[in-house]
Amino acid sequence: MASSSADPAVFRARRKAELSPPITPPHSAPNSDNEDEVHADDGIPDDYVQYTLRTQKELPPITWRNFLGELNWVSVIAIIATPIIGVYGAFTTKLCWQTALFSVIYYYITGLGITAGYHRLWAHRSYNASKPLEYILAMAGAGAVEGSIKWWSRGHRAHHRYTDTDLDPYSAHHGLFWSHVGWMIFKPRRKPGVADMSDLNRNPVVRWQHRWYLQLLIVFAFIVPTIVAGLGWGDWRGGYFYAGALRLCFVHHSTFCVNSLAHWLGETPFDDKHTPRDHVITALVTIGEGYHNFHHQFPMDYRNAIKWYQYDPTKWFISVCQKLGLASHLKVFPDNEVKKGQLTMQLKKAREISDELTWPSDSNDLPVISWESFQEQAKDRPLILVSGFIHDVSSFLDEHPGGKHLLKKMIGKDATTAFFGGVYNHSNAAHNLLAMMRVGVLHGGMEIEAEKLAQSVPPSQKLQVLTSTEVNALRAATPL
Ligand SMILES: [Zn+2]
Ligand SMILES: [Zn+2]
Repeated sequence: MASSSADPAVFRARRKAELSPPITPPHSAPNSDNEDEVHADDGIPDDYVQYTLRTQKELPPITWRNFLGELNWVSVIAIIATPIIGVYGAFTTKLCWQTALFSVIYYYITGLGITAGYHRLWAHRSYNASKPLEYILAMAGAGAVEGSIKWWSRGHRAHHRYTDTDLDPYSAHHGLFWSHVGWMIFKPRRKPGVADMSDLNRNPVVRWQHRWYLQLLIVFAFIVPTIVAGLGWGDWRGGYFYAGALRLCFVHHSTFCVNSLAHWLGETPFDDKHTPRDHVITALVTIGEGYHNFHHQFPMDYRNAIKWYQYDPTKWFISVCQKLGLASHLKVFPDNEVKKGQLTMQLKKAREISDELTWPSDSNDLPVISWESFQEQAKDRPLILVSGFIHDVSSFLDEHPGGKHLLKKMIGKDATTAFFGGVYNHSNAAHNLLAMMRVGVLHGGMEIEAEKLAQSVPPSQKLQVLTSTEVNALRAATPL
């Protein structure tokens, strides 16, 4: 190596000297670096997932015989009674436009309580919120009736940490129904995998909401919408049924779709190791949580959608809160790393397409033929030499756009110069097709200068996708 700095030992020493101090956000949560703090995952075995799945007892599968005893009645009432009340109300109450508009607005307010509050703020800490914003989101989230922040975030952290395993409380591998509502209306088959909650356990707003959760739920799910519509435009009944019950049913299924639809419908542009997927329909029904493949790859990013035109009102809301001074330290994953994920998936797709195509024989797989033998064999069939390869053009004689006569003239000859511009500068497609007609390698014909050797590679093979194992095998096979 020419430069001493390229020596690994020197490089390591230099890096050591250059390491910058850890970055501490100025508004990070108090005591966030307290080393004495006890975490739920302190002391878990290294093979925690396998160990737990092996040793922890699981409840028996749900069947038609046992399902009544396995129901979680609190969730059943919340999820099933709400639409029944709402539909009854819709048939017995006239809908006025003010209530209709307010119901939609209140759907977004309580939905954002879950998406911007429960999900992106508390479960993922993707930004810092001021106290007023925390209280607003905690109250709005209570109006969505999905459990307290503490309970919800506990499950969601396990969902990210153990995605698609049985320690994921709503694993998509148990089917769309299970990941949508089954995991709530039935008793969980297992305890969710361990997840650290120490930050939320010391958060006063989270503790306050957990302490008063039932009261907050009743107030923000039913009393507030009833009072707003009642005092606002005299529609008490409509406020209760439309902005209360029916709106709640929509918020429920909209946010439940993040666990079901977002793990089932769409593309995997960032990683295909797990089930999360990106789809605009999921985004539309979940207030922007539909770019779930991105989200599982970069869960601490405050965005779900990274393109400006993609639908992510939760991101827009957080961004507006930042402008209003209510939110700060919005976390964004480095674009360079985001693009690496995208490129990996694009290369994977390209490789799949490449594997489906038929490629020319490699020089190592073809017989080596002497000039004399080439001459001899060319008497019996139309063999033409181009770039050291012998091609049998019999299937192409009548197809040649320049005419059969030009090919016939070159039988038994080296047509390299003629092919690459001497007679006609052939297209890339022509070169690719020619390579498919290879039947042999001329002895000594490949030992040509680098420029000509590069010319012999068909354009379709100049850029190829190789796995690291293949690259390593090539390196090992290349003499030093
Ligand atoms: Zn998910
Ligand atoms: Zn998440």
